[in-house]
Amino acid sequence: MTPAFSKIVFVVLAIGWYLIRYEYARRSRREKIVRSARGLREIALLLISLTGLGILPLIYVGTAFPHFAAYTFQPVSAWLGLFSAIAALGMFRLTHRALGRNWSISLDVREDHQLVTNGVYQRIRHPMYSAFWLWAIAQALLLPNWVAGLAGLVGFGVLFFGRVASEERMMLETFGDSYRSYMARTGRVFPSIF
Ligand code: SAH
Repeated sequence: MTPAFSKIVFVVLAIGWYLIRYEYARRSRREKIVRSARGLREIALLLISLTGLGILPLIYVGTAFPHFAAYTFQPVSAWLGLFSAIAALGMFRLTHRALGRNWSISLDVREDHQLVTNGVYQRIRHPMYSAFWLWAIAQALLLPNWVAGLAGLVGFGVLFFGRVASEERMMLETFGDSYRSYMARTGRVFPSIF
């Protein structure tokens, strides 16, 4: 593994992510929204996450900016980053397939929204966020730069911790006891074993 290959892995991760999402994003525009928790706060969280996971690392890949934050490339770290990137893409695809028309980029409930509790959703209630964490870990392992590498963990961390409680509140208001019992048997981003 070389620094150049490591950067290519990150770009392929970003392109793969975009391609997986593209069709679901296009279809979701046709699905009517019946309830939403969108607002300025959600827009800010999405922008912060996009900056950390996409804009800053891609600027680094193209320009090596910011130079002061560079550190020595470790091939072992980059290999682990490659595995994390593959796991992230696989998980992302599974979650989009399972959520189908119920997916939204923000916090929305669609007309005839189905609560998905099977497949990757059986033991984890936010597996798409697990996939984003895997991306952020891959980014930190692939890019030997304190700012560009860690920006994903910080940026997605802000979105995750700023959003997950509101999302669960919205799901509880929509699905009531079904979601309450689903919460009891699942973990947020790691599978609940017991
Ligand atoms: N937090 C989930 C989904 C992220 S997409 C995950 O990480 O996998 C965000 C949208 O998904 C929200 O608008 C919400 O309405 C919807 N959603 C979240 N959990 C869901 C579930 N179990 N079944 C159906 N829709 C869900």
